[in-house]
Amino acid sequence: MQDSFDVVIVGGAVIGSAVACYLSGDPDFDGRVLVVERDPTYARASTALSAASIRTQFSNAINVAISQYGAKVIRDFAILCATRDDRPDLAFHEGGYLYLAATPEQERTLRENHETQRACGADVVLWSPDDLSRAFPHLTCDDIRLASYGRSGEGWFDNTGLMNGFRNKARAQGVTYVRDEVTGLTRAGDRIIHVTLASGRRLACGTVVNAAGPRAAQVAGMAGLHIPVEPRKRTVFLYDCAQSPEGTARVNQGRLPLMIDPSGVYCRPEGRYFMTQCPPEDDRAVGCDDFEPDYAEFEERIWPVLAARSESFEAIKVIRSWAGHYAYNTLDHNMIVGPHPEVPNMLFANGFSGHGLQQAPATGRAVAELIVHGTYRTLDLSPLGMTRILTGTPFLEKNVI
Ligand SMILES: Cc1cc2nc3c(=O)[nH]c(=O)nc-3n(C[C@H](O)[C@H](O)[C@H](O)COP(=O)(O)OP(=O)(O)OC[C@H]3O[C@@H](n4cnc5c(N)ncnc54)[C@H](O)[C@@H]3O)c2cc1C
Repeated sequence: MQDSFDVVIVGGAVIGSAVACYLSGDPDFDGRVLVVERDPTYARASTALSAASIRTQFSNAINVAISQYGAKVIRDFAILCATRDDRPDLAFHEGGYLYLAATPEQERTLRENHETQRACGADVVLWSPDDLSRAFPHLTCDDIRLASYGRSGEGWFDNTGLMNGFRNKARAQGVTYVRDEVTGLTRAGDRIIHVTLASGRRLACGTVVNAAGPRAAQVAGMAGLHIPVEPRKRTVFLYDCAQSPEGTARVNQGRLPLMIDPSGVYCRPEGRYFMTQCPPEDDRAVGCDDFEPDYAEFEERIWPVLAARSESFEAIKVIRSWAGHYAYNTLDHNMIVGPHPEVPNMLFANGFSGHGLQQAPATGRAVAELIVHGTYRTLDLSPLGMTRILTGTPFLEKNVI
């Protein structure tokens, strides 16, 4: 195999594969692209362990636009990422997100966010507690002041399908994937000139893209750079209305959206079951190989909230649970995208925290534009760039899950 590539992408899950797909599909690009992936089973990639949902209900117009593009791509994926052998449909279920506000401050935030979302053309509505009770009669709404519901462009879909579709399309467009681990980056002044792999291979490269998910800071460190991204554990529980099959049917007939309780606990239907998660009480960096679920979260924090919100959820049973890692941006919980000013041929696409899956299409397109044209051509993501990290100026987004 040739040992020189125009672009080497570190990490081949949803972000690395989205970049590879958009780049190799750009008619103005004819370079050679290598994706290096240390674990092609993706068993511990955030992509495979995620809750696979997308929303337009952000507070920042850039994040709204990123997800609007994401929803369009997810809807049209079978056409956009068709290959000779495959038409990868992502089973996009546009069930919506339902944000509930219980305090005056939460209500004010929902109203402000609603203005931004509407101005961006998002299909969201505000509901009074009466509207909410009519739409979802099984919910207890006594404490609710206001709700915000996404009627379209929000919901859940096949997460690994998105990754595999981008990867297969990228391959069909000539990208090479290799199972190996990037262990070193050689700098000559302000450029990365070589990528070293665990197998001992040494590759010359034009551009390096860091798409290493929760390990992104390790890869940045290989170039002598620091990014504020660390692995933070999130446990997901799949549950059934075990004592009450009719309860499951009742909630599903009411087409429960992805509901975000004022406490931060969220749940959504997943086939005949439901999926739930909550922000951890003790949220700190964990080891890259620590995937032990926090089992106590369900009994102690999630179940009491769900049971109080709907009597259908009083008798529920955990079917399965797993832990995944957010690549958590400790500055502001949002992606870091684009080059580092000290090393312009190293591009970053990291720190997505809890919303990188839905942001993969816009990120893939954006990074490809930077590589091919040296600038953003569609959506300007420069407010999400490295400058804010270096100056310690957070990108403001109030709706973080
Ligand atoms: C529990 C949970 C729920 C989530 N829910 C949602 C959701 O509902 N909606 C949403 O949009 N997002 C969600 N997310 C976030 C989303 O899953 C991630 O932001 C997204 O998958 C990030 O993709 P990635 O490709 O950057 O990282 P990953 O999927 O982690 O992939 C990184 C890849 O890089 C590889 N790698 C790392 N280091 C190296 C190296 N040195 N050499 C070679 N390969 C390397 C890894 O093996 C891995 O395959 C959730 C995340 C979790 C954990």
